[in-house]
Amino acid sequence: MRVSSYFLPTLKNTPREADILSHRLMLRAGMMQQSSAGIYSWLPLGLKVLKRIEQIVREEQNAAGWNEMLMPTIQPAELWYKNNCYNDYGREMLCITDRHKHNMLYGPTNEWQITDIFRNHVHSYKKLPNRLYHIQWKFRDEVRPRFGVMRSREFLMKDAYSFDIDKEAAKITYNRQFMAYLRTFNRLGLKAIPVNADSGPIGGEMNHEFVILADNGESEIFCQKDWIDTEVTLDKFDYNDNLQPIVDCCLKRYAATKTKHDPINCPIEADNLINIRCIEVGHVFYLGTKYSEPMGAKVTCADGRKKVVHMGSYGIGISRLVGAIIEACNDKNGIVWPEEIAPFHVGLINLSVDDTNCHATTEDIYAKLCSAGVEVLMDDSYYRSGAKLAIMDLIGLPWQIVVSPRGAVNKIVEIKNRKTGKHEEISVEEVLTRLVG
Ligand code: ATP
Ligand code: MG
Repeated sequence: MRVSSYFLPTLKNTPREADILSHRLMLRAGMMQQSSAGIYSWLPLGLKVLKRIEQIVREEQNAAGWNEMLMPTIQPAELWYKNNCYNDYGREMLCITDRHKHNMLYGPTNEWQITDIFRNHVHSYKKLPNRLYHIQWKFRDEVRPRFGVMRSREFLMKDAYSFDIDKEAAKITYNRQFMAYLRTFNRLGLKAIPVNADSGPIGGEMNHEFVILADNGESEIFCQKDWIDTEVTLDKFDYNDNLQPIVDCCLKRYAATKTKHDPINCPIEADNLINIRCIEVGHVFYLGTKYSEPMGAKVTCADGRKKVVHMGSYGIGISRLVGAIIEACNDKNGIVWPEEIAPFHVGLINLSVDDTNCHATTEDIYAKLCSAGVEVLMDDSYYRSGAKLAIMDLIGLPWQIVVSPRGAVNKIVEIKNRKTGKHEEISVEEVLTRLVG
């Protein structure tokens, strides 16, 4: 992609309306624009990152055995009325009346809808376990939308649902999702801590939030100090293994949300306990029969008896993750994307667009990297050199290649690693070997 034809409306000054770093950086890097309070347009650079995160989440859900589907954003309010749950979400629910005076709502979550789909199609125990997910926009009319995409009203969520024959089977499914979450956040370059949490309006008997530590986080947890430095090794397991030991190993370390923490019964000594700020990026729930019972979601067992299924629901805040990752990955010059989700792998800067050697060298590198499948953003604009370098730092691509008139004469360019700041002068040939392999 060429900067000259890319829509990248970066800002020089810090926008006043943004009160935390990730929000400021997303606006400055031209990733998104507010449409109304808590509702955003995703501009090309922001959308690329959102899609990258979405794809990693999707791959890990598929690997764990979930089926992707897509439910609508608008649901009939009837599904909620019938089950007396219309008011659980209170004023966070955006209600709509269509031209036929039917009450509709913009879904804040999809438990009722998925249970309705399940009960219409699955009638035998032989079809269990049943595991489905979708990645869809949600709407919650938050009282105080703030911090940009972190607490917005419209946001992208991956929500997965499961149906099992009994509690024991549902626990196995829960553990698979637990594991899939650890793997997903690992791939995103984040250290996520599973935390004992309140279930909120979704309800259910057991649940864990996955949080990442961040000074600007809205949430607070109490957690055993050594959790912070613990690495959980995940590459040795297979989804068909008994995952209970790995889950137990995570959960034996104490971590609880502020509301769940009980100082009197806490098993951890005060000097080994810390109270720390964080961002909730995911939440897994074992729901039991909270939704299946009232909806009559039952299957016929081998002995002919009908049994109400046990459910689970599992969310990841995909759009919140964009902000959360920036909170975790930045320096004084801007964003520092982890390789897996960077919008482009390389930023290629032509410092002097009118210089023949510079032009030829830049175009040569660009063509070769593109044909090798490397995603490159090439700055071929007429901006000042200083501005070009500052914008490249701001948008945080993992590698920068700077082509200057002096170096281009001898086919020498500068390569810089955005994360370490380490830079070297190397030949064009060497650039290609390093970045293409
Ligand atoms: P919170 O406590 O932050 O309000 P929640 O517990 O109500 O979130 P869940 O119902 O567990 O949220 O939704 C699953 C995930 O969706 C959350 O873990 C979070 O990452 C994301 N999410 C929830 N609300 C928002 C929001 N207003 N803006 C962006 N992401 C959100
Ligand atoms: Mg939650």
